[in-house]
This record gives sequence, C-alpha cells and structure tokens, in this order.
Amino acid sequence: MVVGDIATGTDVVVIGAGPGGYVAAIRAAQLGKDVTLVEKNAYGGTCLNYGCIPSKAFVTASSLAHDAGNAEEMGIHADPAIDMAAMTSWKDGVVDQLTGGVEKLCKANGVNLMEGTATFADENKVRVGHDGEGQGSESIEFEHAVVSTGSRPVQVPNFEFDGEHILSSRDALALDAVPESLLVVGAGYIGMELSTVFAKLGTDVTVVEMLDSALPGYEDDVARVVRSRAEDLGVDFHFGEAASEWEEMGEGITVRTENADGEVSEFGAEKALVAVGRSPVTDTIDLDAAGVETNDKGFIETDDRARSNVEHIYAVGDVAGEPMLAHKASKEGQVAAEHIAGEPAALDYQAVPAAVFTDPEIGTVGLTEAEAEEQGFEPVVGQMPMRASGRALSMNESEGFVRVVADEPSGFVLGAQIVAPEASELVAELALAIEMGATLEDVAATIHVHPTLSEATMEAAENALGHAIHTLNR
Ligand SMILES: Cc1cc2nc3c(=O)[nH]c(=O)nc-3n(C[C@H](O)[C@H](O)[C@H](O)COP(=O)(O)OP(=O)(O)OC[C@H]3O[C@@H](n4cnc5c(N)ncnc54)[C@H](O)[C@@H]3O)c2cc1C
Repeated sequence: MVVGDIATGTDVVVIGAGPGGYVAAIRAAQLGKDVTLVEKNAYGGTCLNYGCIPSKAFVTASSLAHDAGNAEEMGIHADPAIDMAAMTSWKDGVVDQLTGGVEKLCKANGVNLMEGTATFADENKVRVGHDGEGQGSESIEFEHAVVSTGSRPVQVPNFEFDGEHILSSRDALALDAVPESLLVVGAGYIGMELSTVFAKLGTDVTVVEMLDSALPGYEDDVARVVRSRAEDLGVDFHFGEAASEWEEMGEGITVRTENADGEVSEFGAEKALVAVGRSPVTDTIDLDAAGVETNDKGFIETDDRARSNVEHIYAVGDVAGEPMLAHKASKEGQVAAEHIAGEPAALDYQAVPAAVFTDPEIGTVGLTEAEAEEQGFEPVVGQMPMRASGRALSMNESEGFVRVVADEPSGFVLGAQIVAPEASELVAELALAIEMGATLEDVAATIHVHPTLSEATMEAAENALGHAIHTLNR
C-alpha cells in the first residue's frame, strides 16, 4: 500500500518502543490518552531484543554449563557439550515471547502501534517514514511527545562493527558457534558480563581496558571480587591499554593496543568484542525542528517530570542520560505519561538500583560511604561476608559481601553495595528500605527466612548497629 503523506492526530506520540517508550505508551493509554507508539525496528527495544534479556539468557545458560562441569567436589561428574546454535535459538525464543508480549499489551491497552522511523517536522508534528519501495511517509500531529529512541554502542576509531571479526554486544549475543578466543575491548559492565559468559562456555577470553581497573564506577573492593573470580575462570586482563587498530591474521585477527607511554602490544584472537559504552540516539530524529536541545554528550536534559526544554516534549530512558538502565527508562516513561495525563507524578533518583550480572553479581543502590560523607551525612557501615552465610556456602558460592551504609545519628539507610550470588535480587530489599525511609533497626528487626542469602542483609544492618551474631562487630 502506498501511504503517501497522510496527516493524523494523536494526544501523545511516543517515539521508540523500548522499556522507556512502551511503558510510557501503555501508561498514557491507561490514563485515557489517545497514544501512537512508533517503532522502527523491534518492540521491546535494545533491552528485550539485544541487551538485558538475551545477555541474561546467556548468563544463565553459560553458568548452568559451567557449574555442571565443575561440580566434582559435590559428587557430580559431567562434561557438558555446548551447542551454541541451540542455545542462541532458545534465547531467541525467550526474546520472541517477551517482545510478542509487549506488542499484545500495547494493543490490549488501546495503544496505536505504527511501524516506521519518526523524525520531528516541527514542535507539534512528527513524520513517520515507512521502509520499503513505495511505502512513503505519514505525519502525526501531537499534543505531547515522548522521545525514547534509546542508545547505540560507541564505536572505537578503526574498529567498525562487521559482525564477523569486530563484534558489538548485539553481534556477540547472536553467535552460532562458541569462539575459541575472544578479545574484549572494555571492562565496563557489558564487557564484564559477556567476558564471564564466554569464559564459562570455554572461550579463551582476554580483556583490554584503557583505564586501570575493571568496572569503573564501582568501589574497588566490589570490583575486585568480580575481577578475581573472572581471573579464576581464565579471563586475562590488561589494563591501561587502548585498542588502536586491528588486522586479519590467519583465521582470526590481531589487535594492537597502546599504553599511556605509547608502547604497543599485540593480542591475537578469533574475534573482538568492542563494548566501551553507549551513546544516545538523538542525532537522527531532527530534534532541532522541534526546538529540543541536547547537551554536549548528546543527551536530552530533562526536569523531574521528564520534560525537555520544550514543555510538551518529554524524553525518557537512555536518551535522557545516565544511568542507562532499563528500569530507570521505564520509571521515567511512567512518570512522563502520568504527568501528561495531569497526575501529580515526579521522578526521584534517590534509590535507583543497578546490577551487574557477573559471577558473583553486583547490586548497588543509593550512596556509598564516601558519597554519604561528601553529602554531609555521618555514615556508619555494616558488612556481612558471604562466607559466613549458610545459604551461600550451601550453594558453593561464598565470595563477596553485603554492605549497608546508613546515617549514624538518624539510622536511615542511605545505600548498599552487594557483591554476592543473586545480588541483583538482594538489592531490592535495600532499595525499598531507602524508598520508605527505613532505618538500620527496621532492617535488622525484620525476620528473614533461614537459610537464605537475604539474611546477610539483616546481618549487615546488625553489624552496623554493633550487634551482629554471625560476624565480628566493629
Ligand atoms: C548487552 C546489554 C545488556 C544490558 N543489560 C541490562 C541489564 O541487565 N539491566 C538493565 O537495566 N539494562 C541493561 N542494558 C541497558 C538497557 O538495554 C537500556 O538501558 C534500555 O534498553 C534503555 O531503554 P530505552 O527505552 O531508553 O531505549 P531502547 O531500549 O534502546 O529502545 C529504543 C527504541 O527506539 C527505537 N527507535 C530509535 N529511533 C527511532 C526512530 N527515529 N523512530 C522509531 N523508533 C526509533 C529503536 O529501534 C529501539 O527499539 C543492557 C544493554 C546492553 C546493550
């Protein structure tokens, strides 16, 4: 069908159907708005299709294979064979189920779905281009718009993604054979998660990182636990090395790196995965036509209602800045929709949890001790090592700790840093504690099931109060 340039009207146009956009669209529709959600590629965005979900599917599958093959001390003797094509196809099934669910939920809530690429024509109109010969474009006039176009991987100069030798995280999550060796450029959370996955699948993994430590942004003692476990899995780290160029060499590649003194090193591998961060997709939607401004990093700056400098145009998720996380995108989408519908919604970033699905996992929320001090609190810290947790020991995963940071005079919980099995789940209790204004006493007085990992949270709070039972007190 030739669509031509037909103009339609809607209360709210949402551009991009990732966790920011589809949540905004559903919530606005629930609140009675006429909503059009435009997506150019796949419902669910990066998160469901190429990010959170596929990477976690591989985290699970690789851990299962690795644990089964390394459980001799538990009396289990197995040598699992990896069928990567089958693993990838299972992952695709999980993704399809979720993306299909998003589409159904949007329709069930009355959201009008439109496939195509949206760009602003002016501050009340977007143009949606449809792919394919003769498909043309159409215009949508809107009262409110939500920009949720997400992010793309940062490209290192000379390392253009080709899907064969130089992989993006998206390429790495679609392989049909386990690479014999992999050079990972970047030891941020995506690089570390995928290094762990491939090391567990039997790949010889080398990581080169420009900075001098893995997982920049996390405290040293947290990052150290993960790095040391990755080393046990065979990951070889080289810090202070910037990837500068590569060439094909036999069946694989040689990557050259340079340190701060200009010394060059060479690393051979079958493939390289480049994971050095992500940048916002704000340069392809003609924001200028709508008068929406971006900062020097390309992010759209927003207020606590998720509004851009143009009051009726909102920006949510990765385009609106760090932390680039799916749950932060969804919360912003929800607040934008509620504010558009006249509800008294506002954003509060005090308790945004973050997780890294390495081995062990990391879960953090709120303030570190140093940040608490900087902000004028008088922090007190309590910690429980996982080696003192009966459940962690019985899972044979006793590395790491739960740390709780609180304000000593008031007892209010301010933050937590967890590096432990299931840290991504454990952190939820402390996010709730911060959100509710709970004190150390509240957490310590809450009866936790024995034996569980979550007892470590109670014990860390008791430790901060000076009366932990299973660890020595400060
Ligand atoms: C490997 C990897 C693992 C990750 N793991 C996690 C994790 O475990 N937990 C977590 O919280 N986060 C994780 N993330 C980050 C997470 O994926 C993002 O923070 C999240 O997807 C951001 O959501 P969003 O809605 O802002 O954008 P996206 O999910 O990027 O969605 C944007 C959508 O907009 C569409 N779009 C772009 N331009 C246009 C246009 N002009 N017209 C129409 N549509 C358009 C795109 O096609 C896309 O579907 C991971 C990311 C990666 C890459």
